[in-house]
Amino acid sequence: MTDSLISSAYSQALEVIASVEPRIAEATRQELTDQRASLKLIASENYASPAVLMTMGTWFSDKYAEGTIGHRFYAGCQNVDTVESIAAEHARELFGAEYAYVQPHSGIDANLTAYWSILAHRVEGPWLSDAGVKNMNDLSEADWEKLRASLGNQRLLGMSLDAGGHLTHGFRPNISGKMFHQNQYGTDPETGLLDYDALLAKAREFKPLILVAGYSAYPRRVNFAKMREIADEVGATLMVDMAHFAGLVAGKVFTGEENPVPYAHVVTSTSHKSLRGPRGGFILATEEYAPSVDRGCPMVLGGPLSHVMAAKAVAFAEARTTEFQGYAQKVADNAKSLAEGFLTRGAKLVTGGTDNHIVLLDVSSFGLTGRQAESALLDAGVVTNRNSVPQDPNGAWYTSGIRFGTPALTTRGFGHDEFDTVADLVVDVLSNTQPGTTKAGEPSKATYTLGDGVADRVTKRSAEMLDANPLYPGLELT
Ligand code: PLP
Repeated sequence: MTDSLISSAYSQALEVIASVEPRIAEATRQELTDQRASLKLIASENYASPAVLMTMGTWFSDKYAEGTIGHRFYAGCQNVDTVESIAAEHARELFGAEYAYVQPHSGIDANLTAYWSILAHRVEGPWLSDAGVKNMNDLSEADWEKLRASLGNQRLLGMSLDAGGHLTHGFRPNISGKMFHQNQYGTDPETGLLDYDALLAKAREFKPLILVAGYSAYPRRVNFAKMREIADEVGATLMVDMAHFAGLVAGKVFTGEENPVPYAHVVTSTSHKSLRGPRGGFILATEEYAPSVDRGCPMVLGGPLSHVMAAKAVAFAEARTTEFQGYAQKVADNAKSLAEGFLTRGAKLVTGGTDNHIVLLDVSSFGLTGRQAESALLDAGVVTNRNSVPQDPNGAWYTSGIRFGTPALTTRGFGHDEFDTVADLVVDVLSNTQPGTTKAGEPSKATYTLGDGVADRVTKRSAEMLDANPLYPGLELT
């Protein structure tokens, strides 16, 4: 597709939108301007291609298609069947999976679907409706106890949030931590690395039905062969949530024992992070689990988003190219460059480095909380998110870490030199930020003062790199 075609397609689309609600057209234009001008280092974000984005803006959005391919609760789903079949075929072939389910609307939907599917496959007995429960939000701890009992008191073991796991991996306030008896594994307190022996010991003692592997903020690769051995030893189903690193699996950066697909019974994912597709989720499974995953609707999901499934198909097709493999390798190489950039400037990283797309900076050595660091960086146009570090003394709200990711800026064309400069800019901001005090004169975890002129100097230097690596080059809105 040529630049002028894309430019005129978007310009005209915005005109159509403006004819109904000009403020939405304006906000959409502004979002492009803002994204172009920001140094996006959020590890879970990316920039999907115009083909992926355009695929979402069609009449497929209008179609209801609850059910499965060829077996829908609505008439007239023949084209949705085509789209869903192509998306699933690409996903199977891209990841070498026996089965793929592309209906989940997001990563959380995919995980919830997977949990219910595993329960359906593994546990016999009464289900939710038999627990005498009406409103899930009103459940007391005793009600949850009853629900868990009605599910046969099943157990889930996942990585703890502060070690880098996700809310849906058994975090107590999340549904995953309520429907199961949950337990969490962490990382070695000295190295910050996964300790497979400690995990095995915990799994032997806890005997989970489901062992969840995968992470949101762990800057290292996982050995899924070892994870499967642990799961097998205790009779658990191995579920891997590859939401964050699906792009590195698709791009063949994670191969062998680092590729979860041959080892896990069920793999869940998002399509919008390192995989660079539309916002959405999907599940890969062995044949054994496929029939229960297929019951995602009506068990957990409603009507699939057909327009997004179509965009997933386009993104999967893109991810099957050698070009995408080159991109994925650069994402990992760039993370190393960023980590080295931090280390050579004396900053402290969780695990001492990275071998995926994530770098987790411990900002306590700058005397700051994650909250202060995140805000000061944003003042200088550096978009990140604060994150807990293992055994975080500041808890999950203020935190002591900043998570960086390379997928988005790699899409823009950033390489080693740019990421080294990014490290320099970040260190410049953080070493010139002073923590504030509360009204009572106590040290504050939220307020801070950024030194004079720092934001301007950093913004200027990042603008040079952003201008040299434009987002959607050639796309000009009229
Ligand atoms: N799983 C992991 C590991 C994630 O990091 C995330 C999101 O950050 C999710 C699931 C949830 O994805 P979504 O926001 O699409 O629901």
